[in-house]
Amino acid sequence: MDRVAYLDFVAVPILFVLIYAAFIRKMTKGPSNRLFLGLLGISVLTTVSDAVTAVLCTNPPISDAAVVVVSVFAGIYHIFHTLTGVLYLLFIMSETRTWYWMKQKHRMVITFVPYFVVIMLLAANIFTGCIYTVDPYEGYKRGPLMFIVYIIAAVYMVWGSAYIMTRGKMLSRSWVFSLLSMYIMIAASVLYQMLFPKYLVEMIMTALGELFISLLVLRPEDHLDYSTGMPSFKAYSNEVRKICRNKIHEKIIVMRFIDASQLRRYLGEEKYLSFVKSIAYRVSDRCTKCGLYFDIYLEQPGNIYLIIDNYDFDFESVVNYIYTDMIVDIREVESNGAKVIPRFCEIRYPEDTNSPDTIFNIGHQFHRIIPYDQFYTKAFDIINSEGFSIRNNMDLILNRAIRDRKFEMYYQPIYSIKDGRFVSAEALIRLFDDEHGFVSPALFIPAAERKGLMIPIGDFVLESVFRFISDNDFSELGLSYIELNLSVAQCLQNDLADKIFTLEKKYHINPERVNLEITETTYENIGDITDMNIKRLSENGFSFSLDDYGTGYSNMHRISRLPLKIIKIDKTMVDDMVNKAGMSVLSNTVSMMKDIDKEIVCEGVETKEQLDTLTSLGVDFIQGYYFSKPLPAEKFVEFIRERNHV
Ligand code: C2E
Ligand code: MG
Ligand code: MG
Repeated sequence: MDRVAYLDFVAVPILFVLIYAAFIRKMTKGPSNRLFLGLLGISVLTTVSDAVTAVLCTNPPISDAAVVVVSVFAGIYHIFHTLTGVLYLLFIMSETRTWYWMKQKHRMVITFVPYFVVIMLLAANIFTGCIYTVDPYEGYKRGPLMFIVYIIAAVYMVWGSAYIMTRGKMLSRSWVFSLLSMYIMIAASVLYQMLFPKYLVEMIMTALGELFISLLVLRPEDHLDYSTGMPSFKAYSNEVRKICRNKIHEKIIVMRFIDASQLRRYLGEEKYLSFVKSIAYRVSDRCTKCGLYFDIYLEQPGNIYLIIDNYDFDFESVVNYIYTDMIVDIREVESNGAKVIPRFCEIRYPEDTNSPDTIFNIGHQFHRIIPYDQFYTKAFDIINSEGFSIRNNMDLILNRAIRDRKFEMYYQPIYSIKDGRFVSAEALIRLFDDEHGFVSPALFIPAAERKGLMIPIGDFVLESVFRFISDNDFSELGLSYIELNLSVAQCLQNDLADKIFTLEKKYHINPERVNLEITETTYENIGDITDMNIKRLSENGFSFSLDDYGTGYSNMHRISRLPLKIIKIDKTMVDDMVNKAGMSVLSNTVSMMKDIDKEIVCEGVETKEQLDTLTSLGVDFIQGYYFSKPLPAEKFVEFIRERNHV
């Protein structure tokens, strides 16, 4: 029978474009990508061998040489055609992250047994012609056992389809459809060839199925970090979700650099990226040497995730080797003056936790919970700590607090050295959660900023403080003003100034009674809105302080231009007074601030010695546990009455 192979020929350019695209789109790493590349390569070989057979048999009788060539190519065709089914099944397993299923030898054998049957039959075919024969007059002819080859192809198809369907719950619908499309295409082509045996369409249909997968399943734009070409955090989170849905035992290693964003700023984008890439490469290399099955992912600015299939492998034992491998890169970066501090955390699924969100939170938070010098952490050791549990449940805690109005304002007295009494206080928010107890604002304020919950919290702070000022006779108490913290999100509000003016009228407050604290981060983010807010408020009599001076990158030029009345020197700078350098920085800071007419508050003063030194340096105000911790409103008023001898 003469067969027309033109359509199948079209598959070849499509396949080459797909292979080329795979390299251009960097879809070459990881089991799925490699299997897919393998599939494409095999499809090319299948197509070519099928086409050669068809072309040579077009005009019988054919020469003896052609008979030999056709026999060989028909054999190649069957070998690769059946292999396509096997590889595609493996690809599906890899996409559904059920590789582990194959780890057991007998399963591997089961998967390949049908394929070996075909190979045996093809070997037998050389002597018996049981699968096919090639005749000079009739060309290629099916043999009596050909049906077994078809059945085996069908077995792989049914197996794969069943796999996709049963695991479908963990994949998106479009994904299921795209994975199934390959089978649908092949089934359609078989049907078509039964109706129109003259036209070969199977390979073009297979190529189209592969096109679908390349476009819809393997989407590097979703899974790659383009600045490094490595799989991204999104890819990692997809894998973790798959692991959790399928309950696969895996070990996850998170490696991160403390203060990575600072490191990046310091080194510059290009140097930093090549550093991170090199580190990732070394980690990968060491894991390969240790015989691990793993995938590696990168989250900017510099968190590396490893998902390791070898659940029982003691990773801690190789961490020192990894560090030694990295030391060249670290030394190079540190020779530029930067500091590189890597930290590792090991998470076991499902032993430590079975929730994907907890796995992500551990990766993002562990370095904040462990002691500063702890190099390797096991998630198990921190997961039950209060520190982690609060961080892990922050969404819930915040929503509950906003819903049930769980916030309260405390006031920390501020002492004036010149006047020898307390003249003001800083309003500090407190949150007491029913389940977790006291939750520090240093934890929940940044979280609220990230979740966009800072506006209602900020509104509560403003309202409470204005009410507090109006409820008390400040002149009688000898108090001048209350300092209150404004968050970045609040300063970016269009109507912040109007909100404050409304409260001013509502509570009949003299604006001099209110001092607004902003941080360096706020004015780093300064935009027209923040600028306008600060301008309108200070023109109307509200004063401003710069909080946490000494923790960021202070810019004196900018500070001198902002309408700031007070500079609040951070506790870390006060603590640094114990050493000579710290002392000199502090005393220079104080005299510089005095030169530009700023008043100075020192925060976190805990001892008499600190107080005395700061007094001798000419600091104006003192805030700290030495005098008092933050107090609830009534206690604060009591404290002031007593200490200011009202
Ligand atoms: P901050 O504005 O720099 O507040 C000073 C922090 O230092 C307070 O921590 C205070 O309790 C603590 N502190 C004061 N004296 C001492 C001391 O002698 N020793 C020690 N160890 N600590 C001392 P707190 O209340 O935990 O607040 C932490 C941060 O949370 C604040 O730092 C501020 O940035 C933020 N925050 C607190 N309340 C509010 C608020 O109402 N609104 C906004 N936007 N942020 C707030
Ligand atoms: Mg403050
Ligand atoms: Mg501060």
